[in-house]
Amino acid sequence: MKTTQAVQTTSTNGSAPQSLIEIESLLQEHYALYKGNQDGAVANYIPELAKVEPDEFGMAVATQAGEIVTAGDAKAPFTIQSISKAYTFAMLLDEAGREETYAAVGVQPSGDPFNAITLDARTNRPFNPMVNAGAIAVAGRLRQVLGAGAFDRVLDLFSRAAGRALDVDERVFESEKETGHRNRAIGHLLRAAEVFDVPVDDVLDVYFRQCSIRVTATDLAVMGATLANLGINPITKQDVFGMDAVRDTLSVMFTCGMYDGAGDWATRVGLPAKSGVGGGIIAVVNRQIGIGVFSPRLDEAGNSVRGKLCCIGLADGLGLHAFDATNPGSSFLRGMAKWD
Ligand code: GLN
Repeated sequence: MKTTQAVQTTSTNGSAPQSLIEIESLLQEHYALYKGNQDGAVANYIPELAKVEPDEFGMAVATQAGEIVTAGDAKAPFTIQSISKAYTFAMLLDEAGREETYAAVGVQPSGDPFNAITLDARTNRPFNPMVNAGAIAVAGRLRQVLGAGAFDRVLDLFSRAAGRALDVDERVFESEKETGHRNRAIGHLLRAAEVFDVPVDDVLDVYFRQCSIRVTATDLAVMGATLANLGINPITKQDVFGMDAVRDTLSVMFTCGMYDGAGDWATRVGLPAKSGVGGGIIAVVNRQIGIGVFSPRLDEAGNSVRGKLCCIGLADGLGLHAFDATNPGSSFLRGMAKWD
């Protein structure tokens, strides 16, 4: 991993900082600004998560060119939790194709909390893959398609997206398995609706394990940059996801990634993103960068409080919002149409 300082980023905002050094100083600035913020509370419905160190706070940005800049506890490990949902969704798209994937799960924002025990009444399928019901549907299809080795394949894929061998926090896994009654209820609902046809316990084993994969803010930044880079890890150059899977995943992250806070997020930050109750947030700037933030105290929707503030600060500071007024749009299309 390089930390070269001369690479120019391609910010869309004319007045925005243009170099990695400037991104790094923006990270440092937001780290200092929010370090003392103790708003929110750590997730405690999974007993092991209640034990995490609430003050840890780290940020990282990885670029499409494979550069990484960080601030704070960017190497502190935590469990990926719901951020895993974006990556298993991409995985199912690659493994089973769109038709089979969308037979199991929709792409509509639900407006409900992430753990709602509900299906879309029109389709009898979960609203989208970013809430628990949708992610358990995806885990069920992966378990059905890939058999008993499904989780090993998930772990291998996540590791390739992060560019290093990841592992599972067994304590968090056991804790969630022990107490995850709502998720078990969702699993049975989905089996009754014939979303998958394998034992619910086998499916939840995949789901609880995928949520318990240990990452750092730096890992999240690289995993985000892998999506930004059309599915190719920008550091290892490994081909991790197909382009169609990346396109669909980023779309659903944009509309549904922040649960019932998704509309506010799309308007305020304007980036595809995904949060997890472990305190992580990942955000992606298409074709440019991945952002990873970690801070365990959450707001009522289950999103990291300081993580959100940092993403807002970076989006504003670097002009990252997809519909920022300073965004010049696609120069490619302009060239094609010979617009001036
Ligand atoms: N493993 C957690 C659960 O199923 C994931 C939730 C989350 O991160 N929002 O409740």
